[in-house]
Amino acid sequence: MLLSLLLSYSAFAAYGPDLEGDLLAEGASSEPADTGVVGCSDQYLKDGVLLPDLPLFLTRVQPGHAWGTREMTDLLVDTSRHMRWLMPEADPISIGEISAEHGGFLQGHKSHRGGVDADVGLYMTGGRQNPRQFDTPGPGQFDVEANWMLMASFLESGKVDMILLDRGLIAKLKAYTLQAGLLSEEEANAIFLGDAHEGYQSVGVVRHAPSHEDHMHVRVLCPDGSKASAR
Ligand SMILES: [Zn+2]
Repeated sequence: MLLSLLLSYSAFAAYGPDLEGDLLAEGASSEPADTGVVGCSDQYLKDGVLLPDLPLFLTRVQPGHAWGTREMTDLLVDTSRHMRWLMPEADPISIGEISAEHGGFLQGHKSHRGGVDADVGLYMTGGRQNPRQFDTPGPGQFDVEANWMLMASFLESGKVDMILLDRGLIAKLKAYTLQAGLLSEEEANAIFLGDAHEGYQSVGVVRHAPSHEDHMHVRVLCPDGSKASAR
């Protein structure tokens, strides 16, 4: 109950006018304006940071491919610490591949080339995570409360460009946030987009992508708040 209240409070604070404003602004101009500010690349990784091994908070499933931008690794560390505080009884978060040391093509992925993408394990019932591989939750195994806390923690950071997840799991999270009164319908509709919005090219925060039944894919923004671009 306490956790629900905490989350409810923080969710309310984070998804207020600011997020709506951001979403509206983003939707209004689909082409990022060329401001001359240096952003970051989704194709290669310069000055990559290796995600630290922090057994209390997170597990690296593929340590050799756990290189990211400073923003990416900081986000993962901060989020895993936050989850430890919110759910001390839950397992450390399993972090899959981010990028190779210098980025570039990574087998099995369309993206993960610039250190700005990370695959994050889902919580199974009771806050369990598999430290060795990602598991697809079977019927009744998706810990909707824990996974929403994880997603909310990412969103509240203000550093996330988008989160990709299977549409069936998105629907579960959306229904939960509405039933628990954590989000208004307007807020939920702004965060959880419908089937018309897919993949990397659309606007919005949480989107459906194929082959995302066993993890959420988190893309972080550049240090200046812009989206990573193909340069
Ligand atoms: Zn991914």
